[in-house]
Formats: sequence, structure tokens, C-alpha cells
Amino acid sequence: MTDQQPIEAGGAIHVDGAQGEGGGQVLRSSLALSRITGRPVIIERIRAGRDKPGLMRAHLTAVEAAAAISGAAVEGAEVGSGRIAFTPGQIRAGAHAFSIGTAGSGTLVLQTILPALLVAPGPSTVTIEGGTHNPWAPTFDFLDRVYLPLVRRMGPAVTATLQRHGFFPAGGGRFHVAVEPCGGLAGIDLLEHGAVIARRVRALVSNLPAGIGEREVRRVIGRLSWAPDCGRTDTVVAHGPGNVVEVEIEATGLTERFTAFGRTGTSAERVADELVGEVRDHLALGAPVGCYLADQLLLPLGISAWLPAVGGRPRGGAFRTGPLSRHATTHIDVLRQFLGVRIEVAPEPDGRVCLVRVSPPL
Ligand code: AMP
Repeated sequence: MTDQQPIEAGGAIHVDGAQGEGGGQVLRSSLALSRITGRPVIIERIRAGRDKPGLMRAHLTAVEAAAAISGAAVEGAEVGSGRIAFTPGQIRAGAHAFSIGTAGSGTLVLQTILPALLVAPGPSTVTIEGGTHNPWAPTFDFLDRVYLPLVRRMGPAVTATLQRHGFFPAGGGRFHVAVEPCGGLAGIDLLEHGAVIARRVRALVSNLPAGIGEREVRRVIGRLSWAPDCGRTDTVVAHGPGNVVEVEIEATGLTERFTAFGRTGTSAERVADELVGEVRDHLALGAPVGCYLADQLLLPLGISAWLPAVGGRPRGGAFRTGPLSRHATTHIDVLRQFLGVRIEVAPEPDGRVCLVRVSPPL
């Protein structure tokens, strides 16, 4: 980060919400890291470059949730606000429930508060209502099958249960998460995917003909030349229409998942082809961590590198991934600013894969 404010001991950290990718992630990670470090944060120019700048409803819920689980004092928490001042108190383990009130992503709200709950003094439960399967956010299944298994490898016990699907624009989904901290966060390395255990293609449809999902699954399986029995279409109950098709590659090293959303005016085959393109790109790269997981992993790895070691286990970790997204590079800047952890990005000789290593501060 070029214009980074120096961190004065005990003072508030100033974050430029428009830096780098400039979306909601700067806000969400800053809130999470404020609570982890106990340092107040002032975030300005929130989403300044976006069509609708400032806090949207789902961002506001993230702020409210972060405040509730950390007994924080907050200024500027309202829809449209471009500046908030967040002063965290003590982490509050226990039962929490948050409702976004729109189809905004519930998984992103969870990722804002999960870091603090992972290191809380006791177990917690969280129920979140809103979107569970949103474009431009991790789906519930990505959270459950990809992200949380990695968090569990870092020590805490975390389980998620989907209670109702929520698609854009109707929302109305709900999921429940139980968190049992273990006194810290151990580091992990994700350098190879390991042997493939299973390949799965799954379409979901709600309030739409099941045939849409069946065509997507057929097309994905056909184009990837996978066995027909790895595909499945489920009709689910949700408030409005929705369709998503996902590919999961479960391997011994980690599970990755890729997503495409059905939408009006786009054929099921076209949606399937988008997904196939994403999967092929990932497989051709030969790195275990996909581009979305890369930016999301940085937060727990950074916290693990910053916290004291748990029982002599390593802190931080390393992963191999493709070219870093703007989300990932922005996330790296935010982590360096809050935690002072070292994050090195070393390109491999092929020029596409890179090794990202997150290490404790010097
Ligand atoms: P933002 O755009 O700042 O609100 O952040 C969006 C977040 O959603 C990032 O952490 C992305 O990695 C994540 N994300 C977006 N699309 C996907 C996807 N298809 N699968 C998993 N995560 C995603």
C-alpha cells in the first residue's frame, strides 16, 4: 500500500475503503481485524468507486454483526454511509442471530464475524438470514465444503447447516453455524491438491422447471467427459426463483468448488459452458487454490501468523494459486496494515502460478 497510514500504538487505524479493489471486502476484513487486534478503525471512502457508493444493506448488517459480537461502539452505521468509526470491546461468545433483510450475501456477513468467534473465550452459534446463493459471493456450499473444512484444519470446530435456500433477488434464506474455538489458529500449507476423491456436478432450482438444472448438469458432464453418475439436480424450496450449478472437485489436499448462476435470457447450456470454462482454467493451472478461495484464505492465514503459536504448531502458511485477483492483492495490503504480518508472493517459472507465503511479523 503506497499511502498507508503509520500505525501508532493504541491509536485508530485509518483505512481507505476505496483502495485497490475497493469493494465490501476492505470493509469486512477491516472490521474483523479491528476486533482481532482490539484496535479501533476508521474506514473512509467506503465503496467510493461503486455505482451505489457507501454501505448497502448487507454491508450494514456486517457492521452491525461485527459490533454485536464485539460490543463495539460504531459511528456512521447507516445505509449509504461512506465513513464508519468502529471501536471494538470484548468478544462476545454465545448465541447470535442476524437478518440482512434483503438477498444480500449471508456468507459474507459470516466471514466478517467468524475470525473473532474462532478466537472467542467460549463457543458460539450464529444464525444468518438473507441470501445463501448469490453471484459474486461464496455460496453456502462453497462455505460449507471448501472454506470451513480449511478453517477446521486450523484447529477450531466449525459446522454450518443450511436451513433454507435464499437466491437473489428474493432472499429469505437461512443458515446456522456453530463455532468451538481451540485457543488459537494453527497455520496450514496448501501446496498440492493431492489425489482426486470425487467429482460432483450439482444444479439447484427453485420455483423453476427442474429441466433447467438437468440440462446444465448434462452439459457440464458431457463437456468435461465425466461419469454421468457424478451429476445431480435438486429442486429446493425458496422464496423466489433461483438456479445455480456448481462443480466440486474433492481431493486429498483440499476441495475446490466452482459456480455459475442461471439468469433470465441466458440458456442453461450457456450457463453450463461458463462453469466448464472456469473449471478447465483451474485444472489447466495445476495449482490447488482457486482465485476466490485465495482471497478468502488470506484472512485466517494472516490471523494465524499474527496470533501466538498454539501448542508449538506453525503460524501462517503458504498456498499455490493462479494470478492474484485484485481482491487478493487488496486483502494483502489490509492484512499488512493491521497485523504487520509478512506476505510474500513468488511467481513460479511458468509465470502463472504463484506461491503465497504468510509469515509472522519480524
Ligand atoms: P466483495 O466484492 O468485496 O464484496 O467480495 C466478494 C467476495 O466473494 C470475495 O471474497 C470473493 O472471493 C467471493 N466470491 C465471489 N465469487 C465467488 C465464487 N464464485 N465462489 C466463491 N467465492 C466467491
